[in-house]
Amino acid sequence: MTVDDITPESRTAIVTGAARGIGAATALRLALDGFAVAVCDLDEAACAAAVAEIERAGGRALAVGVDVADGAAVDAAVERVAAELGPPLVLVNNAGILRDNLLFKMSEDDWDAVMSVHLRGSFLMSRAVQAHMTAAGWGRIVNMSSTSALGNRGQANYAAAKAGLQGFTKTLAIELGRFGITVNAIAPGFIVTDMTAATAERVGVDFATFQAEAAKQIPVRRVGRPADIAGTVAFLVSEDASFVSGQVIYVAGGPKA
Ligand code: NAP
Repeated sequence: MTVDDITPESRTAIVTGAARGIGAATALRLALDGFAVAVCDLDEAACAAAVAEIERAGGRALAVGVDVADGAAVDAAVERVAAELGPPLVLVNNAGILRDNLLFKMSEDDWDAVMSVHLRGSFLMSRAVQAHMTAAGWGRIVNMSSTSALGNRGQANYAAAKAGLQGFTKTLAIELGRFGITVNAIAPGFIVTDMTAATAERVGVDFATFQAEAAKQIPVRRVGRPADIAGTVAFLVSEDASFVSGQVIYVAGGPKA
């Protein structure tokens, strides 16, 4: 495939951590925009609902079970996507986990697990997919950072990983730009998903109250929805964004939430 053969209908996108939350909303949005979408998550069976929703909406999707922190599994998953859906030219590195704790209580496992999924996972996925993008002379990578990159109590591991992803994004933008590939990051603020529900549970606050309290601190006075992030991804992977690269877009209802 060369860049001249590429149309939105012929493009394949990979979204990691897409069984639920922001990843599932992003996979659906990209499918509605004409991409064939690989819905990747740890457990292939857990991707079934997201794939079914895309198919009900008339889109094309494939469930792929992959641990993004496992290099051999990542390479196999990317080759499977290329064979079954077409060369992946869009990658959304969205898979993520939390292992929150104050520094003095944070274990080495808590630190390593978070680095492994966010940083190693985004590195391995990007390294595997770039071969298809450079061959086509076109590509889009979007990394999921967070407002926590600016610092957040109880998240030394997560904040370091999300800040690290911003440096990773800018470096890939410099390296891959000459191949027609743009690389950007989105830093979401408070988005209503299982991840924020788990945080509410951990701190012992009912989720509705947790959201209402969070909304009071956000300039637009509401919490975010997965579709808010999906819409920003849709822009970044579009032709309209072809001169936007190496950027971090805070999607947080304010400058940093
Ligand atoms: P979520 O609902 O917890 O979904 C994350 C998904 O990633 C889950 O399906 C999870 O699978 C999957 N995953 C975890 N480890 C994986 C691995 N090693 N390989 C493949 N998939 C893996 O989270 P979310 O709220 O949608 O967040 C999505 C991304 O946005 C994350 O990177 C998160 O850090 C970031 N973010 C979220 C918010 C927010 O307010 N929600 C704010 C800023 C940034 P399992 O269910 O099997 O663990």
